[in-house]
Amino acid sequence: MANGIKIQNFIGGQMLPPASGEYFDSINPAIAQSFADVPDSDARDLELAVTAAEKAFPAWRGMGAEKRAAIMHKLADLIEANAERFIEAECMDNGKPLSLCAAVDIPRAIANLRFFADAGKLLGGNTYESPGSYSYTLRQPFGTVAIISPWNLPLLLFTWKLAPALAAGNCVIAKPSEVTPLTAFMLSAFANEAGFPKGVLNVLHGRGPKIGAAITQHPRTPAISFTGGTATGREIYSGGAKLLKKVSLELGGKNPTVVFDDADFAKAVTGAKMAGFTNQGQICLCGSRVLVQDTIYEKFRDALVKEASDMSIGDPLQPDILLGALVSKAHMEKVLSCLDIAEQEGGRILTGGRRKIVPGRCAEGYFIEPTIIEGLPLHCRTNQEEIFGPVVTLMPFRDEDEAIRLANGTEYGLAASIWTEDAARGERVAARIDSGIVWVNCWNMRDLRTPFGGMKNSGVGREGGLRALEFFTEEKTVSRPNAAKA
Ligand code: NAD
Repeated sequence: MANGIKIQNFIGGQMLPPASGEYFDSINPAIAQSFADVPDSDARDLELAVTAAEKAFPAWRGMGAEKRAAIMHKLADLIEANAERFIEAECMDNGKPLSLCAAVDIPRAIANLRFFADAGKLLGGNTYESPGSYSYTLRQPFGTVAIISPWNLPLLLFTWKLAPALAAGNCVIAKPSEVTPLTAFMLSAFANEAGFPKGVLNVLHGRGPKIGAAITQHPRTPAISFTGGTATGREIYSGGAKLLKKVSLELGGKNPTVVFDDADFAKAVTGAKMAGFTNQGQICLCGSRVLVQDTIYEKFRDALVKEASDMSIGDPLQPDILLGALVSKAHMEKVLSCLDIAEQEGGRILTGGRRKIVPGRCAEGYFIEPTIIEGLPLHCRTNQEEIFGPVVTLMPFRDEDEAIRLANGTEYGLAASIWTEDAARGERVAARIDSGIVWVNCWNMRDLRTPFGGMKNSGVGREGGLRALEFFTEEKTVSRPNAAKA
């Protein structure tokens, strides 16, 4: 304890310590050292935040989308002007490569704020005219809404939810993951300078089962947007049902990468590698099951093993590093235990499979080598459960029907990527795969206007574009006799 950085809650425009006075450590996973104190918040902090949000709501709603957008753009400007600090903080908190934070995490967080600031200006209702009646709809903010985000893309996913909630005219109670709270804290420190009225944005830090659960069970947070694990999502959904809350759930995945023998071979190998191992495999969209047509299986397997084992892994601060540390000791141990299970199930580890000891500053860090496993059937734990680490399995398939059966053979349905040079086949297979997102000859290509979300155990609802703004509003119908036709 007594670390360099003391993270505080941001409530009603002020940085406040938690009511409990208790803090816990935030660990830099690349060096296994604590660097910040995280508030252990509880229902007392939440009550302050909800009161502040309710007080701020009339003015924020009344301000209109243009002025709200200007404030959100100012916040984006401030993050952009301090981008280097945010990039370093994300790298230190999460263990991911600095280069990835610079290329993806922080730029996308800025883009999220700007995109939804502008999209908020487009949010509006519809009109319905008939001979007897004239009706129109209003899209109105809820008041106080809650967002809860995970540790794998900390600021990116935090802003992905925060921005539409604010742009739609709500005040927000936001809880970042307790594992990676730093960049959300830094964002909150710029809220006053950006011009947010006090109480519009409230950021509470702490443990999921404590402050997270308190937020989702509070009677005056009528809408909750959650991204995280499926088990947590289920708990939030069932708790929310009792209070009839509106809930959006973005959950786990066990995504297939499907490679046909007519694919551009080199592009497919690199695509499968990036889908499997980017961010140490800790992206809900990662392709953790690589399905390869049997005619090219051995050749593809050998090429993928070669590319994966050549990936540079080590100190996330080094510019040429592709794989950094896993987010925590507990998570590293969980992934290593999944590798034990894979071996017990009869899987053959073709590369990786172990903790990686990185010499020097990162000697104690939580690194795992990129790992490829073959020889496992569809219905084993390794091919069914989300591992969320640098681990992919390989399975051969005979034809399109078998590829689709294997691709759809889990309880998840978030994303898939298909590799084929036959455009008709790409469309055919995309239509038959049960997932919210399908990429053809690419992976993780994102347009913020498109619907984003999962089927089956991967989630409920879709975010992205106007859908995210609509989620954070109530739609009201107003009708009157049609004067024009009277
Ligand atoms: P997690 O479910 O453990 O935690 C996510 C957030 O929920 C954290 O802020 C945590 O504090 C909070 N939380 C935990 N228990 C809670 C409770 N009982 N009530 C309220 N809040 C609670 O998930 P994680 O380990 O942080 O993230 C990894 C998971 O997130 C993976 O399963 C991954 O697939 C998923 N994920 C999904 C998407 C998507 O868009 N579908 C994106 C990123 C990550």
